[in-house]
Amino acid sequence: MATTSTVRRVWALDAPQLTIDCGLLMLGTGGAQETIPSPAFLVEHDEGLLLFDTSLASSAAGDPAAAYGELATAFQIEFPESYRLDRQIESIGYRASDVRRIVLSHMHFDHTGGLDLFPHAQGFIGAGELRYARTPSNLDAAFFREADIEAAGRIAWNEVPAGYDHDLFGDGSVVLLSLHGHTPGTLGLKVRMPDESTLVLTGDAAHKRANVEATTGMPFDVDRLNKNSSLQKIGLLASQPGTTVWISHDPQDWSEFRGAGAEITSAASLRSRTADPESA
Ligand SMILES: [Zn+2]
Repeated sequence: MATTSTVRRVWALDAPQLTIDCGLLMLGTGGAQETIPSPAFLVEHDEGLLLFDTSLASSAAGDPAAAYGELATAFQIEFPESYRLDRQIESIGYRASDVRRIVLSHMHFDHTGGLDLFPHAQGFIGAGELRYARTPSNLDAAFFREADIEAAGRIAWNEVPAGYDHDLFGDGSVVLLSLHGHTPGTLGLKVRMPDESTLVLTGDAAHKRANVEATTGMPFDVDRLNKNSSLQKIGLLASQPGTTVWISHDPQDWSEFRGAGAEITSAASLRSRTADPESA
């Protein structure tokens, strides 16, 4: 039965790091610096490779200021040459041109930098996200990078309406989750792993686990009401048996989940590490 299909493999690609005030991650906090990863996730399916988010620009690898100017200093970007997306995809045995589909959580610069590597890919993005990136409010205008918006213009996008979850292959293995509120079209990804455990990637619908636990967003959310609904949706997904939620920028998720290596074959193994660190 088609609804029981799974993906073959998932990789959490090695991620550049940004260091920011923690008040940028959650309302009501602040004062301390926090170093967060900016990841991209590669999914292998019978229908080909899918990439969820594209991290930072390859041209920034080894020299973040070359691509990001003052932002590189403001966010203390650390981006070793070996973390370039194309190099990492090659190290797995594929090429960037093998990536058939791009799913973008949203258009903020720490998720769109690699878009120029995939002009051939079919794109999936939340409805209204591209339009908003071209004409953002003053609130978060600094988070959109012109070169990435131009690269996005060379990709054929399918828009996912707010409030609708899209079964990407029609087999239940990969579902695009509408998690709008941080931006107009924020998406997450729900992946059915080879052992039938479920991995939920939140993108920036939450920045830390604490956002979900307290139903509290961050200062640059464009729509606080829908943001809170999306945080509640993540909380419900996390409560489902066999499901592990991975919050993209959460440093603890990164150290616990990615700490076991790039390739993930089971979401359940991630969850057991969280529940019982002794078993890691
Ligand atoms: Zn982000």
